Amino acid sequence: MKTYRIAVVEGDGIGPEVVRCALDILAEAQRLVSGFALDVVDAPAGAGTYLERGEALPATTLDACRAADAIFLGACGLPDVRYPDGTEIIPQVTLRIKLDLYAGLRPARRLAGIPIPLAGAPPIDFVVVRESTEGIFASLGGGIVLGDALATDTQVITRSGTERVVRAAFRLARRRSRPRPRVTCVDKANILRSFAFFRKVFDEVAAEFPDVASDHLYVDAAAMELVRRPERYDVLVMENLLGDILSDLAAALVGGLGVAPSADVGDEHAVFQPCHGTAPDIAGRGVANPLAAILSGVMLLDHLADAHDDPSPRAAARRIESAVASALAAGEAQTADVGGRASTAQAAGAIRKRLT
Ligand code: ATP
Repeated sequence: MKTYRIAVVEGDGIGPEVVRCALDILAEAQRLVSGFALDVVDAPAGAGTYLERGEALPATTLDACRAADAIFLGACGLPDVRYPDGTEIIPQVTLRIKLDLYAGLRPARRLAGIPIPLAGAPPIDFVVVRESTEGIFASLGGGIVLGDALATDTQVITRSGTERVVRAAFRLARRRSRPRPRVTCVDKANILRSFAFFRKVFDEVAAEFPDVASDHLYVDAAAMELVRRPERYDVLVMENLLGDILSDLAAALVGGLGVAPSADVGDEHAVFQPCHGTAPDIAGRGVANPLAAILSGVMLLDHLADAHDDPSPRAAARRIESAVASALAAGEAQTADVGGRASTAQAAGAIRKRLT
């Protein structure tokens, strides 16, 4: 029986509240399925850790993350806790850089029982794949401000950076096994050379995957299309900032941050975390929606199954999904952010008791 080590960064605010619910559900699903084991290792990081130890991402935590089969993270940072220079405490971003997590996966799947803003409740099930190491964010700290007259930042698109994220998108489309898998390249190739280059590399990589269809959308059209006809999309891959923006739009389409899971994946490591932040406004009140964290746990199990060619974690993932669907259908797992009355513990408990 394979044992997978999971490094857990509970983080700050609602991070620990939702992570504990999700881990409890993962452990129960693992117990029911058997065939694999989870070895959970505490890996402290975040604003609380900074206050306690003077560092937000201790070396021991980074080592634990490096040694793990997967990393599970709640949310890190608090508005009032900053470095002396005033910058935010964001160890999740440091992890992304240190572990070279270049593909941000942001699934948008409509769940029955969660209200969405679109009329007609179309079946939504697409994934935004965000390049996470370059694009315009590569300019971070390197922009130029000339006097008080002009400012510039430079977008960086490399062949290698584009190839690897586009390949990740095509492999994901294959794994999702939709009847007609398709990857859509989102860019602004009609205006900027860097985006035209991204598109060119995309087309070259697409030729390696003849079984997966491909097409292109300009980002402005993509924003409109995802609202008008979200059911048409499967996997969409794009530059960092475009992915940052469209993944929030995607989360809003399926019910908001409380239900939006995510993964940041590289060749060696992967971090799974809810899209939401630490939500200081509701932390400690027991009302946070645990679904985004639970669904991130489902992604973690699927990742273990894919990476180790092991069907057991996938079986556990499917059981959790069924339990979530059944708890939502009964109206017992809806917290206030999605129009329900359940507390964090009640929502998680309703899901846990339906695990079979
Ligand atoms: P960050 O900058 O740390 O990513 P953010 O600015 O995106 O954070 P969040 O902390 O995600 O902000 O919170 C945004 C809003 O969404 C807040 O009002 C918060 O209470 C709400 N929210 C976030 N996550 C949840 C959740 N799991 N359940 C209920 N409400 C949530």
